[in-house]
Amino acid sequence: MAMGEPWIDHFVVGPLQMRCSVLTDPATGDTVIIDGGDETGRIIDWIDGFEGPGPDWTSGPKNKATADSMPKRKVVALVNTHAHFDHSGFIPDLKARYGVDWYLHPDDFYLQTLVQASARKYGLRLPEPAVADQELLPDRTYEFGSINLEVFHTPGHSLGSCSLLLRVENGADHVFVGDVLFAGSVGRTDIPNSGGDFEMLARSIHTHLWPLEDSTVVHTGHGPITTIGYEKRTNPFVGEPARRGGMVGF
Ligand SMILES: [Zn+2]
Repeated sequence: MAMGEPWIDHFVVGPLQMRCSVLTDPATGDTVIIDGGDETGRIIDWIDGFEGPGPDWTSGPKNKATADSMPKRKVVALVNTHAHFDHSGFIPDLKARYGVDWYLHPDDFYLQTLVQASARKYGLRLPEPAVADQELLPDRTYEFGSINLEVFHTPGHSLGSCSLLLRVENGADHVFVGDVLFAGSVGRTDIPNSGGDFEMLARSIHTHLWPLEDSTVVHTGHGPITTIGYEKRTNPFVGEPARRGGMVGF
């Protein structure tokens, strides 16, 4: 079922400036954390008590007084678009704090075991990798409390990459794509152990993302957010210019 306008916070976290999205149903307070990859203290302080520096962007209340007039936020699930370390390295902090299940596509389970080693290449230290509690499976809609997210399997950046669609009543839908699609670009396909492949990535985007409404807001894993319609018209790798240029994947 579609919901009303969602409350979404963006936290741009860690040395790779990865976007963690915190999604709340303002009617119930039910909250899902998507890609809680780093700076978990900042995320937790804001969700729990509106303390600390807060998000980099929000569609929700900006101070405690406004939030106090709404249902209290309750984290009901942790969900990941994929298992690169900048997206999943600090999930253990969030699991420890909230005690809820963490969802990941099974094709990224192996990749998840490598996050410490991958981070070390950047000189970064991570806790022992989290193990997914639940398989995030495609072509079904998950009910996380009152938040319904439809899951698409969109491999090509990693084998288990998924995109999560939130349908909104009387407003633009939102899709959380991780590193599949960026504003004016696409995810890398050359990251070790990830199973990256450009043709697969292009097919994922054409099959699952382009059919969405043009107005759908695309919450990317890095860089600016964008919309499906804008990327379809202008994206040089997978959009109209690439089709005209005869690029592979079409
Ligand atoms: Zn990635």
